[in-house]
Amino acid sequence: MSGDSGIERLIRPGLVAFDGYSARKALENLEGELEVPLESVIKLDANENPYGCSPRVNQALVSCREVNTYADAGQQELSRLIEGYTGIDAEQIVSGNGSCELIDLLFRLFVEPGDEVIVTVPAFIMYRFSAGICSGRLVEAPRDKGFGINVEAIKAAISKRTKMILIDNPNNPTGNLTAQKDILEIAAAGLPVLVDEAYFEFSGETVAPLMDQYQNLMVLRTFSKWAGLAGLRIGYGLFPPVVAGYLMKIKLPYNVNVAAIVAVRESLKDLDYLMGNVRAIIAERERLFSELKKLKFLKPFPSRANFILCSVLGGLAGELCQKLQKGGIQVRYFSTPVLQNYIRISVGKPEHTDILIRALRKIGEEING
Ligand SMILES: *Cc1c(COP(=O)(O)O)cnc(C)c1O
Repeated sequence: MSGDSGIERLIRPGLVAFDGYSARKALENLEGELEVPLESVIKLDANENPYGCSPRVNQALVSCREVNTYADAGQQELSRLIEGYTGIDAEQIVSGNGSCELIDLLFRLFVEPGDEVIVTVPAFIMYRFSAGICSGRLVEAPRDKGFGINVEAIKAAISKRTKMILIDNPNNPTGNLTAQKDILEIAAAGLPVLVDEAYFEFSGETVAPLMDQYQNLMVLRTFSKWAGLAGLRIGYGLFPPVVAGYLMKIKLPYNVNVAAIVAVRESLKDLDYLMGNVRAIIAERERLFSELKKLKFLKPFPSRANFILCSVLGGLAGELCQKLQKGGIQVRYFSTPVLQNYIRISVGKPEHTDILIRALRKIGEEING
C-alpha cells in the first residue's frame, strides 16, 4: 500500500518506528519448505505443552452453553477459582487474555512516554513490545555469563523516571532462577517489582507468599504452559489490592473469553492429571539436558522451566535451525546482540527428545564434515 493520503502523519510519532512483534511463520505456511508432512512436525519452539490440555477441558467446551453470552467483566468466578489455587485473596487477582495482556496493562498503568522500566537481559521479548507501544524506555541491566541477574546493576539503573522493575523467574529464554533474597533486595528499593512466574509450576518457586510483606511485589502467572491452554489465552496476576483495582478499571471489560473461563474451571478440577504431565516434562527436561550435553557443538544451560537454552558453538545456530526445520523439528533461534548463536528447545515427550537428538547428531556430523 502506498500513496500519501496524509493519514500516516496522524499516527502517534512514538509508533511510527515501532517494530512490532516478529511472529514466527505459522506452521500452515511452511508447506513446501519441509521434507516431512505438516502433521508430523514436532513443535519445540514456543514452550507449549506437548501433552495438551486436560481432557475435561475438551469435553466441557463441546457442550459449553455460554458462548452466546458475555463473560463476567468483574471476573468473580475466575478470581475465586484462582484464589483457591494460589491462596492469594480474590481482590488481589486480575486475569487477562494471556498474561501478556497483563504485562501490557501494567505498562499502560504506570508508563508515560519517556518513563523507564528496568529489565534484565536477555529477557522475555514481550516486555520490549509493551514498552514500545507506550513509548516507554527499557533500561537494560545485563545478566552475567551464567545469566544470573546483577542486583547492584539493577539498583544503579534506578532513576527518577523508573516506574517498574521486571524480573522473569525462571527467566525466558535462559531458564535459570533468581534467588528470592535477590528479588527482595530489589523490592526493598520500593518501586513496583513484577516477578513473571510463567513457569512457576515447573520451578516450584514463588514470591507470592511475600506479597503481604512487600506491598510493591506483583506476580504474573499463566495457564498457557503447565495447563496447556496457550491457545485459549488465559493468564493472571497477583497484585497489591490498589493496583488490582486500577487494572480492573482500565482493562477491556470482556478481556477473558467464556471458553477460557470454562477451561480454568475444568483444569483446576484436574490438577492431579495436569501436574502429572508437569512432572513428566520436568523428568524429560533433565534427560534432554544430559543428551544435549553429550553433543560437542552445543552448550545447554540448566533450566527450571520447560525449555533449555543452548549456545551453538562455531556460530551455526541459524543453519542448525534451518536444517532441523527442514527435517520437521522446530526450535527457537536467537540472534540478538545479547544472545548470538543460541537456540531454545522446548521440552517435548520422550519420543520427541529421541527424534531431536538423532537429528542433531546427524547434523553435527554434516557440519563437522
Ligand atoms: C509464555 C510466557 C508468558 C505467558 O504468556 P501468555 O500470554 O500467558 O500465553 C509470560 N511470560 C513469560 C516469560 C513467558 O515465557
